[in-house]
Parts: sequence; C-alpha cells; structure tokens
Amino acid sequence: MAAAVPVRVRLAPSPTGTLHIGTARTAVFNWLFARHLGGAFLLRIEDTDRERSREAFTEDILDGLRWLGLSWDEEPVVQSARIEAHRAAIRQLLESGQAYRCYASDAELETMRQRQQAEGRAPRYDNLHRDLSPEQEQAYVAEGREAVVRFRIDDGATITWTDLVRGEMRWAGSDLGGDMVIARRAPADAIGDPLYNLVVVVDDAAMAISHVIRGEDHIANTGKQLLLYEALGLTPPRFAHTPLILNQEGRKLSKRDGVTSVGEFRAMGYTAEALVNYMTLLGWSPPEGVGERFSLEQAAAVFSFERVNRAGARFDWDKLNWLNAQVLHGMEAAELRRRLLPLWQARGWAGDGAGADPEWQEELCTLLGPSLTLLADGVEQAAPFFETPDPDASALALRSDAGSRAALTALLERLREGTLAAETAQGLLAEAATAAGVKKGVLMKGLRAALLGSLRGPDLLSTWLLLHRLGADRDRIAAAL
Ligand code: GLU
Repeated sequence: MAAAVPVRVRLAPSPTGTLHIGTARTAVFNWLFARHLGGAFLLRIEDTDRERSREAFTEDILDGLRWLGLSWDEEPVVQSARIEAHRAAIRQLLESGQAYRCYASDAELETMRQRQQAEGRAPRYDNLHRDLSPEQEQAYVAEGREAVVRFRIDDGATITWTDLVRGEMRWAGSDLGGDMVIARRAPADAIGDPLYNLVVVVDDAAMAISHVIRGEDHIANTGKQLLLYEALGLTPPRFAHTPLILNQEGRKLSKRDGVTSVGEFRAMGYTAEALVNYMTLLGWSPPEGVGERFSLEQAAAVFSFERVNRAGARFDWDKLNWLNAQVLHGMEAAELRRRLLPLWQARGWAGDGAGADPEWQEELCTLLGPSLTLLADGVEQAAPFFETPDPDASALALRSDAGSRAALTALLERLREGTLAAETAQGLLAEAATAAGVKKGVLMKGLRAALLGSLRGPDLLSTWLLLHRLGADRDRIAAAL
C-alpha cells in the first residue's frame, strides 16, 4: 500500500495590501484543516509583482496572522527568491514544445479583441503565434520585437478534479482563454518575469503541498494549473475552493464595503477570538452540539470540508458583534485589563493615583465587562472613571430637583464624617435618604447623575466605591449641588 501523503497546506498572500478578511478566512480554513489532521500550515509570500509589493504589507499580514492565533510551521517561503526555479520550469516547457514565444504586439492583440467582440465572441488569445515557422520567428526577432512565453492549452482538453468542497469539477480547455502567458514580455533570447499560474505550480510542488485551499475565485486558475502540473510531470495536490465572503447585497465583499482588513477590525475593538470564530462560521457549519461560539482549537478538533458550504457567505455584523460580546463577557477581569490598559494609556489615563493600581483597574473591568460589545466600549465606558464627566441634559436637570439635592447634601455630610466601604454603602444611602425625607431611589438617581454625569451606567454601588477610592466621589457630589 502506498504511504499516506503528509498533509501540508499553505497560505499564499500577495503583499500588495494589508491582510484582507478574505485572505484571513482562507488562512483559517487552511489552519483548521492542517491542525485537524496533524499536518503543516505554511506561508508563501507571493511578492513577484515588484511594483505593488511592499515589505510593510508583508509585516502587516504576518502580524495579523499572529494576532489571530494562526501559527505557521516553517520559515515563510519568499516567492521572488525562487525565480531561477520558475525560469527553469519555463525553459523545460519551451524545450519540450509545450510552450512557445509569442511576439504579438499590444496593437495586434487589441485588433484581435475587437474582431472577437464584433463577432459576438468572448475575448481570448486565438493562438496566433502557436506554430510560427523558424523564418517568421526570425523576422519578428529581427524587427526587434519582444516576446511573452505562452503555454499551449489544447481547446479539446477536459480538465477534471474532485474538489473537497464542490465535488466533481470539469473544465473545458476551450474555456481557459487560449494559450496562456507564463512569462512577461522580454527580448527573444531571455525569459521575462514568470507569472502567477506557473510560479504557483512550481512552488506548491517544491513545498510538497498536499492540499491547495483557496477562494473559489481561483477555480479557473486551478484548471490551468492542473494542465501545468501535467506538462511539468509533477503530481498535483488536492483542491478545496471555499465560498466567497459576500456583502449585504450578496456581492463579493470589497474595499467599497468599508472595513475589510483585519487591522481595521482590530482597531475597531474586535477581539482576535471573536474574529477567527466569526470567520470560521463564514462558510462552515459546526457539527451538532458544538454551538457557534468556539475557539480555534475546538473548531480544529471537528473541522472537515464536508461542512463547508458551496454558497457564498454573507457578512453579518450582528453575528460578529454578538460573538465579540460573548468573548468579552466571558473574559477574566485580569485579561480584559491587559487588553484595555494600552487603550486607556493612549488616552493618558490610568497613569497616577488609585487609577494606576492594577487591582482597582481589574475591579473596573469586572464592572464594565458584562456591558461591552467592542473593546472600544471599554474605553468609552471607562471615561467617567478617569476624567470628570460633563453632565448630560438629564443629569443637569436633576440638579434643580429639591429632593435629590437634599438627599445628596445629607449624603455628602456623612461622607465627610466617615469612610465608605462596601458594607456601609447601603446604610449610608438609607440614612441620607431618610434624613432628607425622600425615597432611596431618588437619592440613587441623583448620586448616579452626580458621579457619572448621566442617568445611565453600570451598577451604582460598585461605581461609587471605585470612584471613592480615587477620592473623586465627594468632589463630584459637591459639584452637582
Ligand atoms: N497570491 C494568490 C492570492 O493572493 C494566491 C492564490 C493561491 O492560493 O494560489 O490570491
């Protein structure tokens, strides 16, 4: 029996932009598949587009993957460093006659396109220079024309594969646009820059990739790549084409939809846990009993392509927000503090007095955690704990309420006399309310308005105790009188 092929998958991002949510989701499926089967998850930086590739984008992509927890297993392969291997493959195809030089000029190609359009045909290369005689070729070279290298695609070929997501796939050679360019234009004695389909095949084979998992926008490329595997005498991997991420209108999610890069989601206050969880659900249905909230490890334990849908996955902000809230509500206070502290510090907060005390900060996190949807909410809601808030209209209106004023005055007197502790807070409130002849609820409303500048906010007693430890409660009550 043949030995099983080790599972090796890869993410092959092009560093021509920041880490896109679609690429990240492809990374998630690759990672889950590899981890499920104990295989390797590899990275290849496809930086052959020299004009558009940037080192800073590579950094952003690696950074985003790390942040999401999508660990990879070997040093990332840098595609541009492998150009000699790519050229060697092109030479091999030229020598075996499976590729040839095409000297067609832009103007000639444009004429071809217009003729096809006029005839109502789909544009394609009509294999014009496929069988040039040596004399014709000489003549073009003598003219000083440059040439691309094209790979022969037999119009009669039928390409089939069993896709792990989409099942039996069949592609006709005649639907691949004619003989394919595999190297950019260069003088006839040289080989120009090798192009995507060729380099992907050469690199996937060199990296011993067993499964290529990528978006379904690559399906036509897979047809071309399978022909190249055959021509180069290489064993092709298995393929899985995952559904695209769609916007609310059902079209492919694009820059026009606003937030699309992982860094943007991060800056908005989404946690990595919620984002990977959400991306996994974009196209994969967890098996019965798993629920919708899970960690990457939990998903990896049960992941399979059988549960990846063929239909596109619509982006659903409500679901993402719900997941993020679940993550934040379930987070230990110490961990929440670790994540919020840099955001607080960026606002110039938490640097001095009791507000700099980690224990106090943790208690603040315990108080705020259950009401957060985004990490950013933990900045907004922490603001009145670090800065004296400006009272809103409803808090201002309460200042002229005689009952509320009397009760706050009575409370302030008592606060000046003794200290406040968790055990005595309720008693103090009751005493002050009685002394002022109002219901305790009136005082509580007034106290909340005085402390937070708003009638809304977290649990009042905890809020008060935290502000008391900052020494801020008395001043705020006094200011409201
Ligand atoms: N660099 C290609 C992309 O980002 C890789 C596609 C593939 O996985 O082969 O779309």
